[in-house]
Amino acid sequence: MADSEDHVFARQFFLEKDRKNLPKAPSCHDCNCKKSRLETYLAAVLPFAGRHAQAVENLTTGVPKRLDKNRRVSRELFGSMKPAWLREDGGIYQRTSVVDFDGDKLIDLLKYVGRGLAWHHWRLHLRPHDEVSVMLAKDVGTMLFQSLLAKMRPERQVDENLGNGTVLYRGLQAPDPPELTVWMISMYGGVVLSDDRQRAGGDVESCTVWWIFTGPSELKQASSLLR
Ligand SMILES: [Zn+2]
Repeated sequence: MADSEDHVFARQFFLEKDRKNLPKAPSCHDCNCKKSRLETYLAAVLPFAGRHAQAVENLTTGVPKRLDKNRRVSRELFGSMKPAWLREDGGIYQRTSVVDFDGDKLIDLLKYVGRGLAWHHWRLHLRPHDEVSVMLAKDVGTMLFQSLLAKMRPERQVDENLGNGTVLYRGLQAPDPPELTVWMISMYGGVVLSDDRQRAGGDVESCTVWWIFTGPSELKQASSLLR
């Protein structure tokens, strides 16, 4: 049962000056608690992997305070920091640093985000048995998303920029079934992930875009088309 209102993207992901008019959605107490545990972890970790100016400023202002309060995350984070080579689009390698990162926590958070955005934009209430799936991907799906968008009426599309580019997302809702929504999200200019999926040899994939699909369970097939 929804008994409170929750920010779809936690306020702590944004600089203080960028926290106005963030999307909200109803949430139950239980989900709210689980989601905010994920947010505490990710707000400390994601800015390290971002490429956007907001990520850098967040690192120098918000993150140290949060790490102070969370010594365990702090130890894990700095203990695991290491140099790596990031392969940018076009094949150029850039020097960067990566931290070990629990990708499952991001995936779990994005499932809440997908449900929240579907409600925020279209008053779509997804039930527990509705499907929400997440894909952390390189930016290869953009063309596919464009072609999906071209088939949708404008009122079923959104294109949003929160906090001066801290979060960018686009979404669409299918006319039938209405539970079918697709979201493309990037934070901090595209986060460079390094978790278990990191390849041998020190290269990291740049996962600039995250996909969220909501809908009935047949939708699993739609997301597998993108792999
Ligand atoms: Zn709940």
